[in-house]
Parts: sequence; structure tokens; C-alpha cells
Amino acid sequence: MERFREAILEGAPGEDIAAIPLPDSYRAAFVKKDETEMFAGLSTKEKDPRKAIHVDEIALPEMAPDECFVAVMASAINFNTVWTSIFEPLPTFGFLERLGRESVWGKRHDLPYHVVGSDASGVVIRAGSAVRGWKPGDRVVIHCNYVDDQDPDAHDDSMLASNQRIWGFETNFGGLADLTLVKANQLMPKPEHLNWEEAACNALCNSTSYRMLVSPNGAHMKQGDVVLVWGATGGLGGYAVQYVLNGGGIPVGVVSSASKVKLLEALGCEAVLDRAEKEYRFWADEHTQDESEWRRLGKDIRALVGEDPDIVFEHPGRQTMGASVFVAKRGGTVVTCAATSGYMIEYDNRHLWMKLKQIKSSHFANYREAYAANRLIRLGRIQPVLSAVYPLEETGEAASQVQYNLHEGKIGVLCLAPEEGLGVDDPARRAKVGEDRITTFRRLGA
Ligand code: NAP
Repeated sequence: MERFREAILEGAPGEDIAAIPLPDSYRAAFVKKDETEMFAGLSTKEKDPRKAIHVDEIALPEMAPDECFVAVMASAINFNTVWTSIFEPLPTFGFLERLGRESVWGKRHDLPYHVVGSDASGVVIRAGSAVRGWKPGDRVVIHCNYVDDQDPDAHDDSMLASNQRIWGFETNFGGLADLTLVKANQLMPKPEHLNWEEAACNALCNSTSYRMLVSPNGAHMKQGDVVLVWGATGGLGGYAVQYVLNGGGIPVGVVSSASKVKLLEALGCEAVLDRAEKEYRFWADEHTQDESEWRRLGKDIRALVGEDPDIVFEHPGRQTMGASVFVAKRGGTVVTCAATSGYMIEYDNRHLWMKLKQIKSSHFANYREAYAANRLIRLGRIQPVLSAVYPLEETGEAASQVQYNLHEGKIGVLCLAPEEGLGVDDPARRAKVGEDRITTFRRLGA
């Protein structure tokens, strides 16, 4: 891959990049099928991504006609890489086996190793014979919606396709590597004013937050809506707060430290709750929730913004869902995409039906939504929430930061990019958007 790296850093034209021979193998971060039992008997907290994630050379797969090879300059950690590396709730090799049974091309994914990673920025180095919109030399970011376009259900909202998958989680050959294999319909133009690692960190969380809040497929927020955002400086929450502010809403951000409160204020979020300082105890014990604590949260929100949330942006799951359903306004919406603290959810249904609230499920984003969210990044209307950068060799350490909630926003990973700060193609736009705004999380993160 060294020749590709040099050509990209020199700004070589697409024809030159297309003429460089492909390698037989490339460096990648992966988990191994024969290690899925390595954490047997341990609690979730004791399962350490650093032990499960390996970085080594793997064989180059064959490329299908509708696919591209992308030289990855930078990638990012998502929580799904944490799930894969601790083999919870299931080892992801089951997903690869199922994909392997689906088609001849699907078979390539069923391997004894799983290359992880669902975000990347880089350069197209080969395009399959059926690819129309992209060619070698194109600078791209990659979204993770992996869809079979021959499935009729994929042609309205592609997230409803029966075999919709997340690249690098439910497929092999993910983005935490020097090279990745993607479908052409996962590609989007790289935001020209961002460097490689800033560009790489957005697609998964930014698109997910866009669908949850902005899209008619999600909560479809309107001007003036009060939106309670859990984990408001996390991967999803850092974008969610920006969407609420952009759309004329009123965010109420929940975080867990004084430094995160400062970060939220720098983003422009005036109503902030520090859940560590407030010591909310929504669960009296493992089996019993405490409604008086839900009520206390509701009062705290009213004290800040004078009313109940029209929308609750949910992802912590078991720990918070009861409270989220309780505090949502009459007729309001709880939009959920995850359950970090546990997926067996309990809430008091009386508060849902008597007050005509709804729970809306959401999962990643279709191509149109991901493209719209990427456009807002390109326009400088949404900023990357990159707070730290690790080399590919330290993917396990980077994932463990996310596993133990030691990070803010997104953690980037340098793959072929030899150092931080490279790849800005439009410095004038960068200056116009503002260095301080682009780097808020990098400057103020712990
Ligand atoms: P993240 O960067 O770790 O941020 C999550 C934030 O949630 C943390 O910063 C933490 O903030 C807060 N949090 C964690 N546990 C909590 C608890 N028990 N109670 C209240 N707040 C809690 O992760 P992320 O990237 O935002 O992802 C969050 C979840 O969504 C993960 O489970 C991930 O797998 C999932 N996800 C799903 C999709 C999808 O398409 N379905 C897409 C992206 C992510 P404070 O400590 O500051 O409060």
C-alpha cells in the first residue's frame, strides 16, 4: 500500500493511481473466530477490546462489479467495534456466515477473521465494471449502509431492505484498515475543508442523528421543539445537539462531567444537566425503577427550559428509557436507536398511552439521508466532533476508550495518513467555516 500512500500524498492524478498494482495483502484491524470465547464468564466491563483486536496483514479479497477498493487514509471508532471486540451481544461471525450463504460474492465475507470499522475517508483506487459515479482518484467518505439493490424492499427506504447490513459490523473488510472493499453506493464526496481524520469520523454517527431528528423517518423535529439529548457530547449526541440548534430547536443536553458541560456550552447548548452531579438513580435496585427520580429529572428540565421535551433522543437504553418515556411531553416522541446499558427495556406504559406519546425506532440512515447529512458537513453547517486520534496499531486502545466512556465525541484512527492534519483540499472554505468551530472537540475535549 506504500505506493498508494505516496501517490495520494503527492496528489497524483486518478490514472496514475489506477496504474499502481494492487497488493496481495494489506494491514487491517480484526477479531478472530477462534477467540470468541476468550471472555467467557467475565462481566461486560471486564471484556477488554485491547485483547481481542489484532492488527496484521490479511489477504486482498476479490472485488465485485458494483464495488470499489478504497485506500483508507483515516477511520474512526464506533461503538459497534466495541460490541464486535467484546463479542456482545453475539459474536459477529454469525452475520458473516449468513452473508456467506446469500450469494457467491457474499461468500468472500465468511472468513475466520472479521475486519472491523464502519467509518472511513480515503481515495478510490479501483472501481468495478458496473460502477458509474466513481473512479480512481476520487476523494471520498464512506457510509455504512450495505444494501442489496436487487431487493425490492430496498427501493423506498433502503433501511427497510430485508437484508440491510452495516458495513464493517455485519460485513467483512471494514474501514479500520489501509484498504477497504465497499459497494459504490456507500461512497460520498469527502468534505473538502476537512483533513482526513476529521472527514473520517462523521458518516456513521452524523447520519444516524440526522435520521433520528431531522428526517421524516425519525422524529422530524420542528423549530422550537425542546429536545432532551442523552450523552450530548458522545458520538451521536455531539451531532444531535448541532442538529437541534441548526433546526431552531432547544436542546437540553445530559452529560456526566464538568468538562463535558463546558464542551456543550461551547457548542451553544445553554440548557445542560450533569447527571453525575445530579446523581439520578432511576433504578432503586436491579429490578425496580424509582418514579420519583424520573419526576426529579422532569422538574430539572422544566427549571431549565420551562417545559417538557417534545423529543427525547434515546440510546442509553435500560438505564434511562423509563425516565425518557416519563419526561417526554404529552404527544411527544422518544426516538431510540440503541441500548448501550441494556436492551431489555422497562417503562411505565400508562405514561405512554394516557399522554399519547410514541416511541420511534431508528437505525443508521438510507443513502439519501447519509448524503444529506454529509452535505451539511461539506457546507460547514455541521462540525466534526473529533476529540482524539490514534494510529491503526492502537485500534484496541482507542476502542477501549469508547468502551469505558473515557472519550468525548469521536475517536479518529490514522490508517495510511502518516500524520494528523493532512488532506485539506479547500483551505479557504476551512477559514470561512472557522478553525475554532471545526476543532471544538479536539481543543476542549479532556
Ligand atoms: P458514545 O460516544 O459512547 O456516547 C454515548 C454517550 O451516552 C456517552 O458519552 C455517555 O455520556 C452516555 N451514556 C452512556 N451510558 C449511559 C447511561 N447508562 N445513562 C446515561 N447516559 C449514558 O457512543 P455513541 O457513538 O453515541 O453510541 C451510543 C449508542 O448508540 C451505542 O450503543 C451505539 O452502538 C449505538 N449506535 C447505534 C446506531 C444505529 O444506527 N442504530 C448508530 C450509532 C450508534 P455521558 O457519560 O456524558 O452522559
